[in-house]
Amino acid sequence: MSTIPAPFQPAQRILMGPGPSDVPNRVLRAMAAPTVGHLDPDYLRLMDEVRTMLQRIFHTDNALTLAVPGTGSAGMEACIANLVEPGDEVIVCVAGVFGARMKDVAERYGARVHAIEIPWGETLSYEMAKGYLDSYPTAKMFCIVHAETSTGAHQPMEELARLVSASEMLFVVDAVTSLGGMEVRVDDWKIDACYSGTQKCLSCPPGLAPVTFSAKAIAAMDARKTKVANWYLDMSLIRNYWSADRAYHHTAPINMTYALHEALRVVFEEGLLERFSRHRRNHLALRAGLEAMGLNYIPERSLYTLNCVRVPAGVNEARVRKELLERYGIEIGAGLGPFKGQAWRIGLMGASSSERNILMVLTALEGLLRDQNVKFPEGAGASAAAAALKKMSLVSFDELS
Ligand SMILES: *Cc1c(COP(=O)(O)O)cnc(C)c1O
Repeated sequence: MSTIPAPFQPAQRILMGPGPSDVPNRVLRAMAAPTVGHLDPDYLRLMDEVRTMLQRIFHTDNALTLAVPGTGSAGMEACIANLVEPGDEVIVCVAGVFGARMKDVAERYGARVHAIEIPWGETLSYEMAKGYLDSYPTAKMFCIVHAETSTGAHQPMEELARLVSASEMLFVVDAVTSLGGMEVRVDDWKIDACYSGTQKCLSCPPGLAPVTFSAKAIAAMDARKTKVANWYLDMSLIRNYWSADRAYHHTAPINMTYALHEALRVVFEEGLLERFSRHRRNHLALRAGLEAMGLNYIPERSLYTLNCVRVPAGVNEARVRKELLERYGIEIGAGLGPFKGQAWRIGLMGASSSERNILMVLTALEGLLRDQNVKFPEGAGASAAAAALKKMSLVSFDELS
């Protein structure tokens, strides 16, 4: 018996990194319900309810809306694998890790990628997007990350959506760090394929990837000359399981779907507008606090769900993250790519976006920065955040948005 490991008992963390985010207990409890079969009538009803709630959160009437097994990257792979055929030209905006991943995935399926490389932390301008659309009119798809988690930059969508929808191209959008925290309007923005993940602003454990495809995307899939090179994520097969046919394709991750169902119920109980307003308010409060401590945001247009700030000169950033975790149980993220060692990424996603977490992280950070001789007035961060929250509690959502 001595070879059996002890039960795994993870510490209770406060997850303020780039994902996963804190998971409400009721979502965890939902996962512990009895496992049923993937063709059990009760489960099929649950799938239908999940689809309806996903359509609402994506703001779409797309019939082909569902959750594929796997994390956010599986959603990316599902969208690209099903729409790209070898030799297709694809435009991808690369402004960070996840744009680069889209390019990599598209190339693996044989696409000829025209990458719009822009500096990390920046967003794609209308002029630059138009230049690429004009230069590569035969491209089949235009791919972009709405919320680039590696830089914290928020890509504005309305203008870009108008531009892409005026072309014949399929519009593919990564909404992993926006869905559930910021508005994602699939139909209004004429998005043809959009994907997300459960563990960011939906505050559900990682394991499912919500995806949605427009009628135009389905037509492109139906017109394929080659089979989808990924059997597991082939939508022509998965579709038959989520449709009235209920044809077996893979055994659905049953208990993960319970969790997603509950996480979506949490979202709609709060209400989408309330939820987006909370994310915005808490971001502005955290921002006020961090700036009062002399920390600067890297992106010009910051996400509400992820705060990417520059590490002050002379500070050992890894030590700060380690002490936040070990002494206070708070997880924040490190910089990636060109921001490695230079940035912290503080997530305010889903349940993690709370006043409590903001005041806690600012207070903890203050002590750790003082230990490393960073100078600012005592209590500056938490009191600036508290003042910002108080001020914002006096204005209505209309004024905020
Ligand atoms: C996290 C993330 C992904 C990948 O999701 P995983 O769940 O890690 O597979 C893709 N795109 C963006 C923008 C992300 O933040």
